[in-house]
Amino acid sequence: MRIASLGSGSRGNATLVQHRDTTLLVDNGFSLKRFTERLQRFEIDPQNIDAVLLTHEHGDHSGGVHRLCASHDIPLWTAVGTARAALPPDFEYRRLVAGHSVTIGEIEVLPVTVPHDASEPLQFIFQQIDTGRRLGLLTDTGHITRHIVDAFDCLDGLLLEFNYDPEMLENGPYPEMLKQRVGGNHGHLSNHQSLDLLRRIDTGNLVCLIAAHISEKNNAPAIVDELIRQLDDVPEPVLASQDSGFDWITV
Ligand SMILES: [Zn+2]
Ligand SMILES: [Zn+2]
Repeated sequence: MRIASLGSGSRGNATLVQHRDTTLLVDNGFSLKRFTERLQRFEIDPQNIDAVLLTHEHGDHSGGVHRLCASHDIPLWTAVGTARAALPPDFEYRRLVAGHSVTIGEIEVLPVTVPHDASEPLQFIFQQIDTGRRLGLLTDTGHITRHIVDAFDCLDGLLLEFNYDPEMLENGPYPEMLKQRVGGNHGHLSNHQSLDLLRRIDTGNLVCLIAAHISEKNNAPAIVDELIRQLDDVPEPVLASQDSGFDWITV
């Protein structure tokens, strides 16, 4: 299985997960034109995307999903609450339910419920059907729940949000209400909350760790990199960038 990103952060997210002939796209916060441009470097044709999975309705994840699926006839999978909030009323989609895995081609997808200020937010764990290797995606999460620790234990690969440094958020340019939203229980994961998850799960099998959804205003890649390197038993991190995401990484 391998993973790549077309961009990661509050100005747009789109993540590819591929195993053999199956290609999945998680979210698309980019216009059709920009998405198509950004996809070129991964040598994938939009027609070859087998399914789009939508985590939640915020524009940085959902903004380009509907048009992409409609123009290339790609099946869209999402939760009922997200569909109601993000899609036109008559738009056809396949329903995801937290805790119930679905098989798409050669990948099994487990939707995991997370605390975030959206209707029915989900994050995902992908499992290769042939070998059982598992890759977790966790962004747009306000705090680490017991449920998340259990679900994300013993993974082979992990893409994890390192959204903000608490001090930078506090002293940064965001208006007070937005600071409270981001730092609140249903906002985003701080560097310390994400480190806490890494300490609580078994990382012994982890071959890749990607730090994602790093705020451009309230965080700095160098801070995230230094914090992660202090941990034992964790691979050298890859830092996802807003503008270029990251290239294929094999799990
Ligand atoms: Zn969000
Ligand atoms: Zn987001």
